[in-house]
Amino acid sequence: EDTVLDVRHLKTSFFSKKTELPVVDDVSFSVKKGETLAIVGESGSGKSMTSLSIMRLVPSPNGKIVGGEVFFNGKDLVQQNDKTMYKVRGNDISMIFQEPMTSLNPVYTIGEQIREQLIYHQKISKREAHQIGIEMLQTVGFSRANDIMKDYPHRLSGGMRQRVMIAMALSNNPKLLIADEPTTALDVTVQAQILDLMRKLSKEYDSAIILITHDLGVVAELAERVVVMYGGQVVEEASIEDIFDDPLHPYTEGLLNSIPKIEGTQERLDSIPGTVPTPDNLPVGCNFVTRCPYAMEICKQEEPTLIDKDSSRKVRCYLHEEGVKNHGQQHRSS
Ligand code: SF4
Ligand code: MG
Repeated sequence: EDTVLDVRHLKTSFFSKKTELPVVDDVSFSVKKGETLAIVGESGSGKSMTSLSIMRLVPSPNGKIVGGEVFFNGKDLVQQNDKTMYKVRGNDISMIFQEPMTSLNPVYTIGEQIREQLIYHQKISKREAHQIGIEMLQTVGFSRANDIMKDYPHRLSGGMRQRVMIAMALSNNPKLLIADEPTTALDVTVQAQILDLMRKLSKEYDSAIILITHDLGVVAELAERVVVMYGGQVVEEASIEDIFDDPLHPYTEGLLNSIPKIEGTQERLDSIPGTVPTPDNLPVGCNFVTRCPYAMEICKQEEPTLIDKDSSRKVRCYLHEEGVKNHGQQHRSS
């Protein structure tokens, strides 16, 4: 089959004293070979915790996966031991994070780090690893790759470090690349270059990508399908075209309205009022009810379920449930 990753009813919680706080709450989605899927939401919506759960990197001892499955290559990653997961990470699944300085070790040269990773995962000689490392650095656009191999991370700019991370992430030819806010720390011009590079490389290597971001502008550049998260839940899933042309969930609509309208500026127009509720402070009913301009009586009482709108769209909102909509609108106008 074409499915690379299949996440089913994933649930991750944090435990404090005797309370269980859900941070990922019944999340399901799948990613196909060569596809770029974006997971979108403000910070605190559960998107990073979803990716950490997939990688089995949920901060312990407080965080724990409490339910669901993560099928990758036919294996449920939730059930694998730490040793297997260590091999999966960086080999079958690679990650790129927001600030590459924290993923690169400051006391080793770029070359030492690239070689070490290649030798560990591919069991090749140091000489071969060096050669592949140079080729990878050239692939991500370094013309003086030989010099970069001898440099320490702090000698490079943020954009250069992120390109090194992409080279490292792709060097083992992973089936899946998880990129968590890969361009957030970079300025606009460098952002565009990195996105361009990721687009080119995902085609070339046929890697599936999960792109995690708060920025729908980045999503538009790179993704084919979008999962929107809020309060630890999936609230909408759709193709990139449907998300931009006809967003169904009020939260998606709010995110779209807060994209800077003028190219190259950081000006935010109508950002959504209020903030994402913390897991210990989720409202009764719909998680978005405290910020939703369309909130109805029923939204405060019962949690809406994620329904299939059609074969390629899902949404969690009473406005899109048959029967409830009319009822709700009567309520609003009365
Ligand atoms: Fe808004 Fe109600 Fe839909 Fe939640 S269910 S997003 S509160 S309209
Ligand atoms: Mg995050």
